[in-house]
Amino acid sequence: MDMMEKLEILTESAKYDVACTSSGSQRSGQAGSLGNAVSFGICHSFAADGRCISLLKVLMTNGCIYDCAYCINRKSNPVRRAAFTPQEIADITMQFYRRNYIEGLFLSSGIMRSPDYTTEQLIAALELLRNEYQFRGYIHVKAIPGADDALLSRLGMLADRMSVNIELPSQESLRKLAPDKSKQSILQPMGLITNKITENSTELVKYKHAPHFAPAGQSTQMIIGATPDTDYQILNLTEGLYKKYKLKRIFYSAYTPVVEDSLLPSLDTKPPLLREHRLYQADWLLRFYGFEAKELLDEAAPNFNPLLDPKCSWAINHREQFPVEVNRAPYEMLLRVPGIGVRSAQRIIKARRAGTLDFHALKKLGVVLKRAQFFITCKGRPLEGLKVGEHTLLRSLMSGQELAKFQQPEIEQLSFFDDSYLAALPEAGRAASFSYGG
Ligand code: SF4
Repeated sequence: MDMMEKLEILTESAKYDVACTSSGSQRSGQAGSLGNAVSFGICHSFAADGRCISLLKVLMTNGCIYDCAYCINRKSNPVRRAAFTPQEIADITMQFYRRNYIEGLFLSSGIMRSPDYTTEQLIAALELLRNEYQFRGYIHVKAIPGADDALLSRLGMLADRMSVNIELPSQESLRKLAPDKSKQSILQPMGLITNKITENSTELVKYKHAPHFAPAGQSTQMIIGATPDTDYQILNLTEGLYKKYKLKRIFYSAYTPVVEDSLLPSLDTKPPLLREHRLYQADWLLRFYGFEAKELLDEAAPNFNPLLDPKCSWAINHREQFPVEVNRAPYEMLLRVPGIGVRSAQRIIKARRAGTLDFHALKKLGVVLKRAQFFITCKGRPLEGLKVGEHTLLRSLMSGQELAKFQQPEIEQLSFFDDSYLAALPEAGRAASFSYGG
């Protein structure tokens, strides 16, 4: 099989892995070496189906001794197989880099013979790149669950970022769909990488030239929609992983049916892209907005509202906390207002030291008043002429795409309010739904 054929097979097989962000590593070029890495990330491109296929994203082999039901590369799936040698991986990376096609490598692999053997092959490829070709560009490598700690430690010294895919949100789902893996076999290398990164940061304080261990941290990927796990379960797991393993990112991958299996959604099921999007939004709220998973969902309402983003849903369900007075509200509360992001909240805090803010000033600071107007007051007063009927509010809080879906006649219009609340509302559009102070 020639290189081109192998490349076609092994890049195609790699596209289902979405855990491939490239930011977080800073390394300048040096005389006698090639390439650099920049902390703000390297270029990404997106395939027609919206998946990130940035860098040279390739598998060492798509042959695998495991049989994960959701995976196109599972051993029982009759697909064409191919494998690169470590030398071939190093050579094509260098050739692509020199031609300016890529700025780094994302290397993963099916499991050949054993996790240890596979990890040795990955190490061999990265050693060639780093030591023989002096490649200083970005490398993201997959850690293979079940590999020896010493091998994973060596791998981490050669890569910028490592990831161990958690794949499915619960032990039960793993047991059914990926019987060769267990939660423990995935969490163990994750824990090792976390500890190594922590140890390394201490060493770097003491010794400036100590070698770096995965300086861009670690990430993971979860498949969404292959199993009945709820958003609530997924978000709780996400929160736990961020806290315990200090992950840089968790990627959610809407399940695309690629193999027929009675345990999986049928082949004509569309990937749940909106659900994936909602999880990314909620993930953002956990990482940057001070929310906890239990505030956004619970067992009684375990899935996100398809029509509203999680922050708007939270605000609607916590009307007793609004409106907030932007001239007095603490930073943490400003962050909870729909239409106020991290930057605009920071700007508000800074600007109000110099004077009292009005709605005009908020707009200039980047606040999206279309959303925020229903949840804030300035100098104790709501926006002049604000009318809040249920539909006005709904339309203002939905994005263009959501609104288009909402206007399709076959989609049932959801009510934000329980019946008693609606009964208490004056005629639509006449009065605000919130009781404004001042
Ligand atoms: S171990 Fe990885 S490559 Fe192998 S079948 Fe499972 S998901 Fe696919």
